[in-house]
Amino acid sequence: MLVCDNLNEIQKEIAAACEKVNRAKDDITLIAVTKYVTIERAEEAIEAGVLHLGENREEGLLAKYEALKDKPVWHFIGSLQTRKVKNIIDYVDYIHSLDRISLAKEIHKRANKKIKCFIQVNVSQEESKHGLAANEVVDFIKQLAPFTNIEVVGLMTMAPFTEDETLLRNCFRTLKELQQTIQQLSFNYAPCRELSMGMSNDYSIAIEEGATMIRIGTALVGNDK
Ligand SMILES: *Cc1c(COP(=O)(O)O)cnc(C)c1O
Repeated sequence: MLVCDNLNEIQKEIAAACEKVNRAKDDITLIAVTKYVTIERAEEAIEAGVLHLGENREEGLLAKYEALKDKPVWHFIGSLQTRKVKNIIDYVDYIHSLDRISLAKEIHKRANKKIKCFIQVNVSQEESKHGLAANEVVDFIKQLAPFTNIEVVGLMTMAPFTEDETLLRNCFRTLKELQQTIQQLSFNYAPCRELSMGMSNDYSIAIEEGATMIRIGTALVGNDK
């Protein structure tokens, strides 16, 4: 499938989900997750009009950055080892996987500009997933105050891999409620305006529940080289 055809379908779905809950579709930012595909395929996404790309590994990010430079906005969406921060930090605009103080410290130390970060939350408490438990997040954000190169732009989660719509909705709702709690605390370094949630299988539900950034790989660019 051509990326532009997939994109058309996805944009229709985004519009439908927004209409259902009375949101403006311009409030949703689509990130094309290109971790499974070639540079050419990523380029096709940009030509189709996608403005944001997401990668989850150093190698993938650097290879695609080398080819595409600053044409897209770059998102690092995978779990990030502290020792790799220095290798990627100059090439990313957003990091979606901040989940520990040691990582915050390293991002702050290596960054030459303010880095927009999402706190990754493991809402479903699955052991296989990274991220803080929901009840740890406020305390964690309080501890980020000294790291002035970090702006907490929002919260990110990966929903459980399930077809159970109730479970998915509950997961996304929990993240939304946590966002509201944080916004009420008015940390100047943590405006927390964004919710990064929703992937190929669940983005419509995520949008209905308040997602502002959706991360789509398979449904948009496919998942094989
Ligand atoms: C791979 C990945 C995605 C995209 O997943 P698809 O199901 O292919 O859309 C989104 N977010 C994260 C964190 C990922 O690792």
